[in-house]
Amino acid sequence: MPPAHPFDDDKLKEECGVFGVIGVADAANFVALGLHALQHRGQEAGGIVSHDPVEGFNSARRFGYVRDNFTSQSLMQTLPGPLAIGHVRYSTAGSKGAAIRDVQPFFGEFAMGGAAIAHNGNLTNADALRRELIERGSIFQSSSDSECIIHLMARSLQRNIPERMEDALRRVEGAFSIVAMTRTKLIGVRDPMGVRPLVLGKVGDGWVLSSETCALDIIGAQLVREIEPGEMVVISEKHGVESVRPFRPQPAKFCIFEHVYFSRPDSIIGGRSVYETRRQIGVELARETPVEADLVCPVPDSGTPAAIGFAHESGIPFGMGIIRNQYMGRTFIEPTEQIRNMGVRLKLNVNRALIEGKRVVLVDDSVVRGTTSRKIKEMILDAGAAEVHFRIASPPTAWPCFYGVDTPQREKLLAATMTEEEMRQHLSVDSLKFISLDGLYRAVGEAGGRDNNCPQHCDACFSGEYPVIPSDMIQKGFQLKAAE
Ligand code: SF4
Repeated sequence: MPPAHPFDDDKLKEECGVFGVIGVADAANFVALGLHALQHRGQEAGGIVSHDPVEGFNSARRFGYVRDNFTSQSLMQTLPGPLAIGHVRYSTAGSKGAAIRDVQPFFGEFAMGGAAIAHNGNLTNADALRRELIERGSIFQSSSDSECIIHLMARSLQRNIPERMEDALRRVEGAFSIVAMTRTKLIGVRDPMGVRPLVLGKVGDGWVLSSETCALDIIGAQLVREIEPGEMVVISEKHGVESVRPFRPQPAKFCIFEHVYFSRPDSIIGGRSVYETRRQIGVELARETPVEADLVCPVPDSGTPAAIGFAHESGIPFGMGIIRNQYMGRTFIEPTEQIRNMGVRLKLNVNRALIEGKRVVLVDDSVVRGTTSRKIKEMILDAGAAEVHFRIASPPTAWPCFYGVDTPQREKLLAATMTEEEMRQHLSVDSLKFISLDGLYRAVGEAGGRDNNCPQHCDACFSGEYPVIPSDMIQKGFQLKAAE
C-alpha cells in the first residue's frame, strides 16, 4: 500500500480516522466522502457499515484508498439506509499489512440487535484483556485491539447497547475515539483524557461524527462542537443528541502531535485553525532558534505553514526550494533501504535556481529516523547551497507512541540514542534545532507554556511521560523513563 506522505517511511503515522452519519438519505455516500477527507489518517484500508430499516445491516471492507473502492455505484448501492459509519486505517495494534478481517468497522450481533464500531486510538491493556476474554470463551476474529470492545460488550449484562458499550469501555485503558451504531442510533465516545479527536457536526436534519472538521466541510456539514474527553453522545432521529459521562473525570491529554502533523491544516482543533497553529509554531521556532540565512524553505507539504511562520518572524525570505512531484501515484515505493532512498528523489526535486549559493533554512515537522533528512540535505548541497540549517517544528521524538500512532521501536528513533549535537553531526548539517516543549505549548495556545506538574496535552513521544501507563508494552519489556 502506498504511503500518502513523500517520506512516509520516516514519519510517525496516524493509524485511523472515523466518520458516521445519521438522519440523511443514503448515509453511506456521505461516509465515503468523509472517509476520503480523512484519508491522510490511514491509507491501508477502509470500511463502511450501514443500516436500512428494510435491508438491515450491510457492510463493505476493502484494502486501498477510499476513492478507488467507495466510488463504485454498484458497491455503494449495497450500503443503503439513513445511518452509516466508516473507518480508514493504516493499521491498528493488530498485524500490519493485515487480513481483511482486521479492517473496521467491526460488527457484533447481540440479543437486543446488532452494533458496529469504528475505533481510532490504541488500547494499552488489550493484550491482557484478550487473554482474559479468550480464557472465558471469547473467539476472536481479528488481531485488532479494538475487537476486545465487542467481546466486552457481549459479556455485559446491561440491557441496551449504549450501556453495554459504557460497561466495556470502563474496562479498557488507552486512547479511543469511537464512532458506533445500532439499528437506530449513532454513538460517539472519547476516552477520559480525550487523546484522539472527535467532533460533532450537523448536516441538514442529520448529525455527523468525524475525526476532524475537514471531513465535515466536504459534505457541507456545520461544526457543532468537539465531543469532550470522557463524553459519550447517543444520537437518534427521535431524541437528537443525548450526552452521558460514563467515566471518572481525568485531566485532558489531547495529542499535541495532532497540531504538529497528523491533522489536516484545514481542520479546526479546540477552536483554532491547525494551519494557524503550525504557522505559530514557525514563529516560536524562529524566536527560539535564530539563524543567519538567505532563504527559508519548507520540506513539503507538512513543513510549509511552520516555514511561513519562521520566514515571517525572522525576516528571511520564504521560497519553495524543494518541489514535490504531486503525481507519483503508487509506484516505486518498496520497503528496502535502497528504494526508500530513491523514493525521496522520485518524489521531491530541488529548485536549483533558487537554492544555488544560498544559506538555506529547511523547516520540517519532525525528525524520526533521520533517513530522509539526510537525503534532503544532500539534495540541497548538490544543488549548490552554501549552508544547510534544519529547524524542526516539534521537539526531538525520543519515545514511541502507544496511543494509536505507528512509531518505530525506540532504538530506531534518532533522538532516543543521540543528543542534539550528535544528530547534527549525523545529518552533517551546519545547524539543527528543535522547538522546545514550552515553545510548542505556547504555539498551541498555552500562553504560559507547559505545566510540568500536569501537562495540558499528551506529549509522551517527546517527554517520555505517558499519561496512560502502557501496561501491555511494559509486560513485553518496554522501560519507562526513570524518575528524575
Ligand atoms: S505519544 Fe505523541 S503521538 Fe502519541 S498521543 Fe501522545 S503526543 Fe500524540
